[in-house]
Amino acid sequence: MPTLHQNTRMCLSLLFSRRFSSPLPAAATATDFQMLKCVLDDCKTALDSKAVLETHVKIVKLGFGMDYSLVSHMLLTYIDCGKLDFARRLLDETPCWNADLITGNIMISRFMKNGDVEAAKRVFFNMPLKDVVSWNSLIGGCVKNSRVEEALRMFKDMCLLGVEPDEFTFSSVIAGCARLGALDHALWIHNLLIEKEIALNDILLSAIIDMYAKCGKIEIAKEIFDGCKSSSVSVWNSMITGLAVHGLATDAIYVFSRMEEENIFPDSITFLGILVACSHCGLVELGKKYFDMMNRKYSIEPELEHYGTMVDILGRAGRLDEAYATIRAMSMKPDVVIWKALLSACRTYRNAPLGEIAIRNISSLDGGDYVLLSNTYCSLNKWSSSANMREEMKREGIHKDHGKSWIELAGIIHHFKAGNQAHPEMEAIYKIMKQLIKRAKLGGYVPATDLVLMDVSEEEKEENLIFHSEKLALAFGVLKTSPRTEIRITKNLRTCYDCHSWFKIVSRMLARVIIVRDRVRFHKFEAGSCSCGDYWCCISQSYIFTAAMLLSVLLKMNYAASKNLWIPGLGHPLDAMAGLKY
Ligand SMILES: [Zn+2]
Ligand SMILES: [Zn+2]
Repeated sequence: MPTLHQNTRMCLSLLFSRRFSSPLPAAATATDFQMLKCVLDDCKTALDSKAVLETHVKIVKLGFGMDYSLVSHMLLTYIDCGKLDFARRLLDETPCWNADLITGNIMISRFMKNGDVEAAKRVFFNMPLKDVVSWNSLIGGCVKNSRVEEALRMFKDMCLLGVEPDEFTFSSVIAGCARLGALDHALWIHNLLIEKEIALNDILLSAIIDMYAKCGKIEIAKEIFDGCKSSSVSVWNSMITGLAVHGLATDAIYVFSRMEEENIFPDSITFLGILVACSHCGLVELGKKYFDMMNRKYSIEPELEHYGTMVDILGRAGRLDEAYATIRAMSMKPDVVIWKALLSACRTYRNAPLGEIAIRNISSLDGGDYVLLSNTYCSLNKWSSSANMREEMKREGIHKDHGKSWIELAGIIHHFKAGNQAHPEMEAIYKIMKQLIKRAKLGGYVPATDLVLMDVSEEEKEENLIFHSEKLALAFGVLKTSPRTEIRITKNLRTCYDCHSWFKIVSRMLARVIIVRDRVRFHKFEAGSCSCGDYWCCISQSYIFTAAMLLSVLLKMNYAASKNLWIPGLGHPLDAMAGLKY
């Protein structure tokens, strides 16, 4: 008796063998044809993928396997039932199939929604007839699946082919520019929007304000906002959030007060923006005021993000007991991010008892915790344990995001990966870097080699720091632009302490404004200081402390309790403690 699994496999091999896709047998009638379509519709409603498969076999057996309208129907049903791999295989098995306009458009958007960009592109390029909806599905899908540069290239192709973009196309490419922080592209797209006389609705307005804010041009964002007089909360939110990531808390609060005056009701995103603004500028009392106002005045329940930001505000200011009280007062279960915010404050202010509580609560090991543990071993010179941990991460399929930075010069985006020296102009970049590092050292820069987590000499550690992606991007910017021009860099992660202090000195040495957008906020380096006021980072000083604290917790907890924090293959926590020096 074959199992269900074997049955499915048998069906699959049967239906993809092509043996049955022969000419139409006499038994099949138009009624069968209609009935099969109805059955597929039923499968779709019931989300029954096994039934789709069975119907598919029947379709092939009846000789309708090459009927393109049925193939389209089956493809959509597979996608709707979450069987993307079957849909893709069917697509491969029917190479001459092409979709009519409506089916094609639906399929592109479904494939995109499920993250299968390649299948969506295949459908798109196989469509004999395409309209603006097809292009929008393709471009919007690429942006949503983080393939922004591809989306921008397709947008250019679309324009070259004479297909008129509409407001949906623009809202996708504007969101793409915001994500990339690519100002030249942003200006081009905005001009095109004006040229095409596309009416600015609230969605487009908030997208444009967000785009300029994320491209580092908060002044343009402000100008557009001041000129638009919109009463849509999303437009106001874009402005407040933009000001917040630029560290302009006073302006963000001013916009919020105007919002109240004009009787525009804030929502949870507005408050998140205001809290982030307070967090970036250390405005504890104001942060507390707005956090309290959310529920009291506007009946908006704080969500995890609001609590997280509030814990961050209190923790950074050293008010750890209040931060902990906020966590305990939460109406929902605090997530790992919140406990990590508390832990980070504990290590800054060296509060071991609360730190231990935080660590105990970080119960489920995600990628970050593996990295934290691995780094802990590294800082204790336990190189082999650290290597084991990284191996474990690889086996478990956990990846730490690699540092990536990019810089846009004359409309072209240049990418740099941490430690990747494969750039065609690396020799020149390296030369510039060496000179800049040498001069920066004379200006007081000391490489933060304690951030380098490898068992190498001090000299090699310095070398490792040089190849941080944002440093490579800056050196390339210096190489390619004329003296004193502003340089704008975008980074996928938070910028590190070492790059931050180096950028400050370089901005003074070269008399250049350097704007770095990292994962969290903007840093505008000018004349030796940064717009963030160094408020964001205390990693270097507290690093060893965290390591010691974490291991002391592991030691205090019995093995059963520490199981969650424990990685197999590393030995007992007591072994890890050996040789630890406070
Ligand atoms: Zn760095
Ligand atoms: Zn900064």
